[in-house]
Amino acid sequence: MGHKIDIHTHIMPEKLPRWADKFGYKGFISLDHHKPCCARMMKDDEFFREIESNCWDAHKRMEECDHHHVDMQVLSTIPVLFHYWAKADDANDTARFLNDHIASIVADFPHRFSGLATLPMQSASLAVKEILRAKKLGLNGIEIGSNVNDLNLNEQQFFDIYEAAEAEGMCVFVHPWNMMGAKNMQQYWLPWLVGMPAETSRAICSMIFGGVFERFPKLKVAFAHGGGSFPATIGRVQHGFDVRPDLTAIDNQVPPSEYLGKFFVDSLTHDSRALQYIIDLIGENRVMLGTDYPFPLGELAPGKVVTELTTTQAIKDKLLFENALEWLGIDKNRLKIK
Ligand SMILES: [Zn+2]
Repeated sequence: MGHKIDIHTHIMPEKLPRWADKFGYKGFISLDHHKPCCARMMKDDEFFREIESNCWDAHKRMEECDHHHVDMQVLSTIPVLFHYWAKADDANDTARFLNDHIASIVADFPHRFSGLATLPMQSASLAVKEILRAKKLGLNGIEIGSNVNDLNLNEQQFFDIYEAAEAEGMCVFVHPWNMMGAKNMQQYWLPWLVGMPAETSRAICSMIFGGVFERFPKLKVAFAHGGGSFPATIGRVQHGFDVRPDLTAIDNQVPPSEYLGKFFVDSLTHDSRALQYIIDLIGENRVMLGTDYPFPLGELAPGKVVTELTTTQAIKDKLLFENALEWLGIDKNRLKIK
């Protein structure tokens, strides 16, 4: 019998501190629990998103996992709580609070959950300390945004963070957020439908051209949403490298296509043709089940697109859980510990 590990799920604590009061400035999320089942995420006085108890309640999550035969969820913070824009010490404070919460759930149910830490990316020294602390807490990796206050992920200031993650064997999950062009396309949910896939491609291209994968060959990086628009545009990216090396091969001489198969992506494409193409492109060892649980733009029946692929069960098992074990650096027996 196969297993399922969902590497892309978000969680937050049921109660958040009044960070705006604590730190003395605005922009932080607070929760308005207007019904037992549900809460409004508020950004200052502005409504951001309605969430349900499965956003914070581990028992509710396990019930839903049981229903969909998901053995383990990898927990990560909701990007609106990254707080890269805040003062570094304050973002460090909130990251520690959120990571302690994730670690406590992993400690309570180690066979059902593993966790990724959020980091104060605006300060490499604080972020490195938090990587070391998160590892001690039992987390298996880190989650970072596709950009950090509009800085791309190839910036030198992030190299210490990659070096620490690589040295500690902490995997990296890159999640789109702070979407480019969002102000110019507020209609039709376009920041989520157009901006997010572009953000992920921005992150992949920045890390390739900036030589991040070259410099940190053991860093296990995964990108959300099937790699966003990158897989469909790799031909263009490679051709751009070939015809304008003066613009593209400044920091790294290695052709972009050589990195296909080096990094991971999740399976969240909502389209079996797209997923099959990605498997053909980067290999059956580099795609992992990811659903964006518990949000509506995610795969609502976890693993549906993977299980519907016309391929062998052995390959499906890689996608459904075996590749995730490798990425997380955990043993299959972890799924059986009661
Ligand atoms: Zn997500």
